[in-house]
Amino acid sequence: MVFSSNGSVIARYHGDPVFRSHVDRADIVDADGMPLVFASRFFCARPLAERIATTDFINDASAAAAKAGLNFYFLGAKPGVAAAAARDLVARHPELRVVGAEHGYFTESDLDRIAADILERKTDVLWLGLGSPHQEAMAFRLRQRLGGVGWIRTCGGLFDHMSGAVRRAPGWMQAAGLEWFHRVRMEPRRLAWRYLRTNPVALFYLLTRTMDEVRPSRDARFADLGDAPLSPRS
Ligand code: UDP
Repeated sequence: MVFSSNGSVIARYHGDPVFRSHVDRADIVDADGMPLVFASRFFCARPLAERIATTDFINDASAAAAKAGLNFYFLGAKPGVAAAAARDLVARHPELRVVGAEHGYFTESDLDRIAADILERKTDVLWLGLGSPHQEAMAFRLRQRLGGVGWIRTCGGLFDHMSGAVRRAPGWMQAAGLEWFHRVRMEPRRLAWRYLRTNPVALFYLLTRTMDEVRPSRDARFADLGDAPLSPRS
């Protein structure tokens, strides 16, 4: 299970114990936000090398998957969006196999059918774009049903970006850690309150909790390995 972390995720992590337990049990948590990288440069002996934006990462992942013959499945966004994103991706990576695309507005009663479809199509990587915290909770629920799938990779609004439904920030804004500001300008009604609420909380924890290693008591999964996870977390 591979999740992403940004300001909203950090704020929710410290305020929602259920969400926190999901994030703590992920196998990898990427830093999807320049503020996390800046904080790690300031506070850590081994800072993060770079930000992992899912919109960029999917290109590297696609090239690697095409080479290794791994199958992608897209689950999330409004009807038609994931399929359009899959078409766009395959046009750029002709060897890549996106074996399924389903919208993300399904109900409880659809879950078994969707899980069976993911398995039948021999999915290796499930890209799950339902928005936080829904996607992290759903990743855990689907995991029980998806033995054999290698990765469940949460990806938020990735399919919207890929299908061209939402435009990304210019490069200089991304590099300056201001992508959130661009997103607020694009969708003020939905996002202004989210960022107003979460940015100060995230800033507080970035300034007070950024460290090189997770304390063993907070992550018992690694205790048996006698080692701490390598990536800094906030
Ligand atoms: N979404 C979904 N099912 C739901 C609720 C949301 O598939 O029940 C999709 C929504 O259409 C959008 C994505 O989840 O494509 C959430 O995007 P957002 O930008 O909020 O995610 P973030 O990247 O901020 O986590």
